[in-house]
Amino acid sequence: MPIPRIDPGIPDADCERLRKEVREFLAETLAGHRAIDRARHWSTADPEFSRRLGERGWIGMTWPVRYGGRARSQLERYVVIEELLAAGAPVAAHWTADRQSGPQLIRFAPETLAPKIVPGIVRGETFFCIGLSESDTGSDLASVRTRATRSGAGWVLDGAKLWTTGAHRAHYMIALARTGPPDGSRHAGLSQFLVDLKAPGVKIRPIRNQADEHDFNEVGFEHVELPGECLIGREGAGWEQAATELAFERSGPERYLSGMRLLLEMLDAAHAVDARARVALGRLVAHYATLRQMSLGVAGMLARGEDPSLAAAIVKDLGATLEQSLPDVAHELFGGAMPAGSTLEQVADHVTRAAPSFSLRGGTREILRGIIARGLGLR
Ligand SMILES: Cc1cc2nc3c(=O)[nH]c(=O)nc-3n(C[C@H](O)[C@H](O)[C@H](O)COP(=O)(O)OP(=O)(O)OC[C@H]3O[C@@H](n4cnc5c(N)ncnc54)[C@H](O)[C@@H]3O)c2cc1C
Repeated sequence: MPIPRIDPGIPDADCERLRKEVREFLAETLAGHRAIDRARHWSTADPEFSRRLGERGWIGMTWPVRYGGRARSQLERYVVIEELLAAGAPVAAHWTADRQSGPQLIRFAPETLAPKIVPGIVRGETFFCIGLSESDTGSDLASVRTRATRSGAGWVLDGAKLWTTGAHRAHYMIALARTGPPDGSRHAGLSQFLVDLKAPGVKIRPIRNQADEHDFNEVGFEHVELPGECLIGREGAGWEQAATELAFERSGPERYLSGMRLLLEMLDAAHAVDARARVALGRLVAHYATLRQMSLGVAGMLARGEDPSLAAAIVKDLGATLEQSLPDVAHELFGGAMPAGSTLEQVADHVTRAAPSFSLRGGTREILRGIIARGLGLR
């Protein structure tokens, strides 16, 4: 495995021991993976890889022991995630469950429900997808039209979710649905539900993205019956809960390490270009190092139980902007020195097609800047 070059290290012996252990595991497990496989790691699901990670205790590692978690620190989790991303590990199967669905269930699900679902996440066997966006409802989640109606002791779900990453390989979705009128506030009357994607009435339709990969889906619900315990948290508190979930979604290092393989490939090819180009690459590495410090700051806030929403929005926005600049830099510096079919060309091609999504998923650039402006008291 190529050693990630951005590694000032965390001055904590436990973290460094863990980092070494994860690197050894990844060197062995990913030995046959090509650069282009590593570049695509973000959309590559490998359930067997996820199961092996679970076996090592590296999924749900900060969660309570009673759910199968290891009660380890946020910084230790950060080390594992950083190593997985830097190595280009195929993380797509378990990523959503580890990052946000598990914490959401532990925090809000009824005591009867969480112990049935969360241990499967920790083992790397139970996968989740995110049910927020709908057609015409992405940034403005208050306008969701999927509706859950009370039926006896349970609920019935009707509607559809759009751009649902990984629904075709997930077991469950946490869906935001309207359960009541927007009394007084547009944000009122929304609730979150656990939806078993094998339930009768759930229909998953594939959507191919511009890289011609099947990652997205549209997920329809036709009279899907949900047991009462599938209401996650309080009825009507879906808006606040979804905001908590989005903070988890925006706060991790993946928000600035999605296109990193292209930087690593450019560094490997640096001998082929002149000194001016190497200065440009050095500048990129310096930007990454700064973002890493900021991202570690967000992990520290999570560890202290503070709300990282503002800081996470800043890191995600800066990270997306930096990573979206990588294809242009590659073409400017290596255009002529990128032989057809070379590893650099393959990776640059992939990142060029994937990069526009970096400033859409998990909140668009404009929405993040709105959050930042509000956090700074500017609006
Ligand atoms: C790779 C990828 C994966 C995704 N995975 C999922 C998933 O798993 N689950 C899920 O639920 N969703 C997912 N999404 C959807 C994503 O969350 C939405 O695309 C995003 O929130 C934007 O919503 P929209 O597409 O409806 O665009 P819109 O909200 O219609 O926005 C269109 C444009 O208008 C701008 N805009 C909107 N409102 C404002 C405003 N108030 N002020 C200023 N500008 C504004 C936006 O910034 C954007 O430029 C994914 C998207 C991508 C690209």
